[in-house]
Amino acid sequence: MILTDTHTHLYLDHFDNDRDEMIKRAFSVGVRYMLLPNINSDSLPGLLNLHSKYPKNIFPMIGLHPTNVKADWEEEIGYLMKQFEANKFYAIGETGIDLYWDKTFIEKQKASLQFQIDLAKTSQLPIVLHIRDSFDEVFEVLNKNADQQLTGVFHCFTGNLEQAERAIELGFMLGIGGVLTYKNSGLDKVVATIDMSHLLLETDSPYLAPNPYRGKRNESAYVRFIAARLAEIKGLTVAEVANITTENAIRLFKLPLS
Ligand SMILES: [Zn+2]
Repeated sequence: MILTDTHTHLYLDHFDNDRDEMIKRAFSVGVRYMLLPNINSDSLPGLLNLHSKYPKNIFPMIGLHPTNVKADWEEEIGYLMKQFEANKFYAIGETGIDLYWDKTFIEKQKASLQFQIDLAKTSQLPIVLHIRDSFDEVFEVLNKNADQQLTGVFHCFTGNLEQAERAIELGFMLGIGGVLTYKNSGLDKVVATIDMSHLLLETDSPYLAPNPYRGKRNESAYVRFIAARLAEIKGLTVAEVANITTENAIRLFKLPLS
């Protein structure tokens, strides 16, 4: 069984005391690939460092997180672009729109998303979208940009069936995280009707721990609880869910096989 955590912030200081042990725990339960979404210029050095330490298992993305889009977003993007040219990345992200925390920079968030969509297209990379209280705004931007080239993930998807189908029509996959294991999330009913070929697993570590660790620090090893819940919903074995979602991740991110 090979599991893939397609969205995990292993470089954050939450893991400073036990990072390597935590990564070993992930390996020991069958997690072979982990993808690291970037946040801003501060997070990138630690992120790249982890990739050089585990080059066959941990893969870097580059992007500016929507909650970090402020007045200085163009400088941030400028720094990231220099790094983009100097390193190999497997996706642009995470980007998107977040109107939950702050609506002040909504126009800049949209401009940043547009910039990162253009970059994803010209570099033929998938884009990883963070969407919080902003489905309408994100769909508006995606509709303008949809073509054969545009692809990626709706990270931590928690929308309804109609939103799931729209995302898939636009060429995107759905990143399924710990919310699937929460009682009454309603996400179980949505994923039940979505074909496995559109689904990826992710933890969003250190956030959003699945049951039985809800409320605690999340880590990539816990992706197995999400796989187990999805297996239950789909009537598949955990190994089948692990292998199908790993194949999906390898295809989308064009991961080099180890
Ligand atoms: Zn994230």
